Amino acid sequence: MTSELVNEVPSAAAQNAVFDPEAWYAGEIERTIITEQELRAKVAELGARVSADYADTADELLLVGVFKGAVMFMADFARALTVPVKMEFMALSSYGSSTTSSGTVRILKDIDSDVTGKHILVVEDIIDSGLTLSWLLKYLEGLRPASVSVVSMLRKPGVQRVDIPVKYVGFDIPNEFVVGYGLDYAERYRELPFIGVLNPEVYQ
Ligand code: 5GP
Repeated sequence: MTSELVNEVPSAAAQNAVFDPEAWYAGEIERTIITEQELRAKVAELGARVSADYADTADELLLVGVFKGAVMFMADFARALTVPVKMEFMALSSYGSSTTSSGTVRILKDIDSDVTGKHILVVEDIIDSGLTLSWLLKYLEGLRPASVSVVSMLRKPGVQRVDIPVKYVGFDIPNEFVVGYGLDYAERYRELPFIGVLNPEVYQ
């Protein structure tokens, strides 16, 4: 049977092609601060810690990922756990400039299920001022879960404007604007497998 829907076998060149961000985003990424290998090792470490902490929890842990930045981390982290989970996603819009948030948050997509009595683990990409997360924690606590904890892949120490208890943190990073592993600038760079500092010329 011949059909236009049958995929052609990609050429050897296409099959061997590797994504080369240096070439694709030439000059836009100032430097890599966390490599793909370091991210992978950290996800495994966080997965083991969280699994141990929730091993005796009777009900499934409920992961709440925050769109869009936490998507890569959520996908890897969920698979690094050795306890069963359910997954929910929220989309929030936080007013502010293109590189900072203001703490005025609006829910664009809410969780779909009843979380009363559940153990929630919020999965975050990065904690900067902490204003978005602080708002989210108050919102979730109002839904009367059994507990709410936070895992964030990145945190910028010293810049939090609110004191939030974050139990699990992957890396503390310098106060610079970073992209990659889900984090964007103007919707670009999310697909990078590492975390890099964006060249300020891109947004200035
Ligand atoms: P916060 O409310 O803690 O200031 O900021 C939270 C959100 O702002 C993060 O979830 C992320 O979407 C965005 N953000 C904060 N710092 C950075 C950064 O360095 N790079 C990127 N791409 N986004 C950031």
